[in-house]
Amino acid sequence: MKAAVCDVFGKPLTIREVPTPSPGPGELLIRVHGCGVCHSDLHLVDGDWAAWGTPLPIIPGHEVTGIVEKIGEGVTAFAPGDRAGVPWMQYACGRCAPCKAGAEMLCAAQRSTGVTVNGGYAEFVSAPEAFVHKIPEGLDLVEAAPLLCAGVTVFAPLRRAGNLAGKTVAVAGIGGLGHLGVRIAAAMGAHVVAIVRGPGKAELARALGAHDVIDSEKEKIGRTLTKMGGADVILLTAISARLFEQCIPGLGPNGTLVVLAAIAENASVLPAGLMTGHKRIAGSLIGSRDDMDAMLRFAADHGIRSTVERHPLSAVNEVLGKLREGKVRLRAVLTP
Ligand SMILES: [Zn+2]
Ligand SMILES: [Zn+2]
Repeated sequence: MKAAVCDVFGKPLTIREVPTPSPGPGELLIRVHGCGVCHSDLHLVDGDWAAWGTPLPIIPGHEVTGIVEKIGEGVTAFAPGDRAGVPWMQYACGRCAPCKAGAEMLCAAQRSTGVTVNGGYAEFVSAPEAFVHKIPEGLDLVEAAPLLCAGVTVFAPLRRAGNLAGKTVAVAGIGGLGHLGVRIAAAMGAHVVAIVRGPGKAELARALGAHDVIDSEKEKIGRTLTKMGGADVILLTAISARLFEQCIPGLGPNGTLVVLAAIAENASVLPAGLMTGHKRIAGSLIGSRDDMDAMLRFAADHGIRSTVERHPLSAVNEVLGKLREGKVRLRAVLTP
């Protein structure tokens, strides 16, 4: 099969023929229709995560959708021809404390698609059936690919927040994650406030379904959100410590700021401001398998799709370059 392979960190991927995997017991072989290009993939190919034990060579890609081609011995939940999605999480131990508590995405023994085992920048991918998800009819396989990472990342904390009908959800940053955050929160019945920079993004946010838009170039985020009654939930999807600092004063009583971006610099917060309004700062990482199935069903029922740019697998290095420069519009998907 053809695949885009990371042979050396920090170098362009090599597009070459590699052996097609054969599914072992309990595994599926999936013919890839779409593989989303996530910001995490840049960290992977740059070698930022080498310490996590990424073996080389590796095929990146963890937002994979396709059709089951072959099933291994003992597979019962899937048959050839089924629509399937392979996400980031490809194995969790089931025995550690987070696994037992239903937070398997925090399992330290986890195997990750396209990070520690081969992923979807290829014509085929294999994965254990227990961690593969059925993609409901009605979802386009290419548009559904980013749902498997970006979609579940925004869905899981909104689901955890409970009934959002009439509550205020602010989404800070309108990119791969944020555009899905706006669509999903609006479909859950929330009053959605998009926090953007610049008039172009403001228009986009409204088109996605945001009810209000705060342009951080023109107005103070905290003051404007407070005037609106304060946010019950803020999803922080942009990698910006300044944005983190600017959002916190916009939380309403009992409001929660959820960090969904790997912000690797220090930010300051006034602890007393949290105390007086029972405000919380939380982090959230992808979602459980149950979150994923619920998200996919929700997306199919509510017509939630990722807005994507489609690119052939052969253009992978150009696509990664565009992503690095912030020139991808919402989400790029590779189609072999
Ligand atoms: Zn991702
Ligand atoms: Zn575990």
